[in-house]
Amino acid sequence: TPVVVWFRDDLRVSDHPALSAAAASGRPVVAVWVRDEESPGVRPPGAASRWWLAGALRSLAHSLGTRGVTLLLRHGPAARVIPDLVRESSAAEVVWNRRYAPAEAVVDAALAADLASQGIAVGTFQAGLLAEPDQVRTKAGGPFGVFTPFLRALLARPAPRPPLPAPGAMPGVAGLRSEALDDWALEPRAPDWAAGFPAVWTRGEAAAQEKLAAFLDRALAGYASDRDRPDRIGTSRLSPHLRFGEISPFQVFHAALVAREAGRATAQDVDKFIAELVWREFSYHLLAHHPRLATENYQPRFDAFPWRSDPSALHAWQRGKTGYPIVDAGMRELWTTGYMHNRVRMVVASFLVKHLLIDWREGERWFWDTLVDADPANNPASWQWVAGSGADAAPYFRIFNPVLQGEKFDPDGAYVKRWVPELRGVPAKFVHAPFAATPELRTAGVTLGTDYPVPLVDHKIARERALAALAVTKRP
Ligand code: FAD
Repeated sequence: TPVVVWFRDDLRVSDHPALSAAAASGRPVVAVWVRDEESPGVRPPGAASRWWLAGALRSLAHSLGTRGVTLLLRHGPAARVIPDLVRESSAAEVVWNRRYAPAEAVVDAALAADLASQGIAVGTFQAGLLAEPDQVRTKAGGPFGVFTPFLRALLARPAPRPPLPAPGAMPGVAGLRSEALDDWALEPRAPDWAAGFPAVWTRGEAAAQEKLAAFLDRALAGYASDRDRPDRIGTSRLSPHLRFGEISPFQVFHAALVAREAGRATAQDVDKFIAELVWREFSYHLLAHHPRLATENYQPRFDAFPWRSDPSALHAWQRGKTGYPIVDAGMRELWTTGYMHNRVRMVVASFLVKHLLIDWREGERWFWDTLVDADPANNPASWQWVAGSGADAAPYFRIFNPVLQGEKFDPDGAYVKRWVPELRGVPAKFVHAPFAATPELRTAGVTLGTDYPVPLVDHKIARERALAALAVTKRP
């Protein structure tokens, strides 16, 4: 009797405990991925994520195929699709790696109970987080709301298990129905807004492993300082691969430790990198304990915040036409590649929320649709962190000055000039504040308001306005 392996956000064959367990059982393996946008509370992927998903599924289907297993694609609520497949294949067992977004966890728990009641064995495994949300607790036994003690508690646990190798060939099951990936039309046709993505990204497990190796070779040493520089390749760019589980956090964690032991990076660089990986864990911890993280303020006092409705400013922000070059560069990088550097994400998010006083949920939704790494935990947790409404958030009164941020983290203006070509002729000294450099702009042939936008807001005025708005949340 076969065993069903249900793939979800773990689109890989190495360090996949559920697949390894199925392979070790010696039984025929049925592999399935379910497009479930119907179960209550499940958040359908945004457009850029659908693009990624198409490539990830194609790649997984290929690596399973070389092992003798067909990846079946089905759509519908998992509560119906999985039991149907169990019946059709006469399977005796279903295995999966656990997932942690609350709505998905509810679906899984109900399904496990349903299958068990029918005498079907269910095996579930830890694979997507180094520490599952309930494995890390405060001394009082509750969830964490502050990052540093969470990090400490996570690192004090027994070391994360070493990653598992990919299993070899397995017996498959022929003749089961599958939908066709192309029929799902996950990738855009016309207009093809994802045309710029393949130049930047290769989807799939093999590419994720190559990305990790390249990072260890080139950027882990120096990570602690270069990670804040959008003009350098200072980070791993593993986020979409981690999001879709093309690589596991166990694989990344252990590779970083090995690099440290081999003297390829300092303890400071490795510790910083691991701390960033643990921010991802913290986001899932928050989401698990605050299921409405994407729609409700983590700190309820922000419910009183006087957000402005300003569709034209929102549109200018989305399109990278705010008149602040570092903001516009980031938003255009996002639109063209489905990615934005972390430092710039913080700057553009702060700009939307504090300079424009537009609700963080608008920004979160835009990122959800346009990021290839759009993550159900990291995205809302990071937006709330920047907005000041989140857990362990930056203080609200810390309002990034987009000009100073640009000058500090993109000192030669290389990042801005890459994404805002209108400003290529402007000297580096003025590129982050073109509105303050009329003669230099004239020399560079740039007319503000024609070639490049006049700033949507003045920094000083916007800052005062944001602080006044904040006062509302402080009232008892
Ligand atoms: P690296 O620096 O190489 O870090 C390695 C891995 O650690 C990342 O791949 C990621 O999984 C994790 N990580 C790094 N920084 C963070 C962080 N601050 N918070 C949580 N995890 C982190 N990250 C997402 O994965 N998905 C999102 O939807 C997302 N939305 C964000 C929205 C805003 C407003 C902000 C400020 C940040 C957001 N981040 C998000 C976090 C961060 O920007 C990205 O994880 C990072 O830029 C990915 O690049 P990298 O893989 O090169 O990171």
